[in-house]
Amino acid sequence: MIFESTIQKANLIMKLRSMGISSKNVLSAIEKIPREIFLPSNLKDYAYENIPLPIGFEQTISQPYIVALMTEALSLKGNEVILEIGTGSGYQTSILSTLSRRVYSIERIRPLLVNAISCFKRLKLTNIICECGDGFLGWSKLAPFDHLIITCAVEKIDNRLLSQVRFNGMCVVPVGSVLKGQRLKKITVKNNRESDIWEDLGQVNFVPLISDNY
Ligand code: SAH
Repeated sequence: MIFESTIQKANLIMKLRSMGISSKNVLSAIEKIPREIFLPSNLKDYAYENIPLPIGFEQTISQPYIVALMTEALSLKGNEVILEIGTGSGYQTSILSTLSRRVYSIERIRPLLVNAISCFKRLKLTNIICECGDGFLGWSKLAPFDHLIITCAVEKIDNRLLSQVRFNGMCVVPVGSVLKGQRLKKITVKNNRESDIWEDLGQVNFVPLISDNY
């Protein structure tokens, strides 16, 4: 069984490479973090398939390629402080935690967060700080962050969020809607919003950000 999952993991890493993921650090983080522990027991066999999977409450754990792509886009050196909106299963959070100094993560669905926190404990990841609540307005008390990663789709990125990212920090975020389609954007944050640099990272399919502040 262990042998089988090692082969599946190696196949996934090769698949991610063939899709253009080249960062050794990102690929070894994917290799290190066991995706199966973030999944419901009936789906663990699919842990190393390159597909998103349901985690309950109408939410999904992201596809490994998208987790790798979003992480690679941040070019992490290891000393960054990151804010994540949408902890979900905690899989993306765990990958980020192995490659940065600290990850703050906000999730609005408490049972998902409870489950994610128990995974962080099992993996002995001690640099993750979580909060249950609406992440629409970020975590201004703790700003500025080096980077912001949003793992649910927004129709428009709010300036109050971008102002929590330091100069030259990055925000990786799916922008769009289920109807119109979504594109993954990497925004390099400058002193004023007109000077921000937007890059397109391709088409994605995330669950929407849900907020009363919208
Ligand atoms: N990266 C995650 C996938 C998260 S799915 C993983 O690998 O598992 C997106 C998550 O965003 C869901 O859990 C959803 O509940 C959460 N979410 C949606 N709107 C939110 C909001 N306003 N604040 C915080 N979390 C939110």
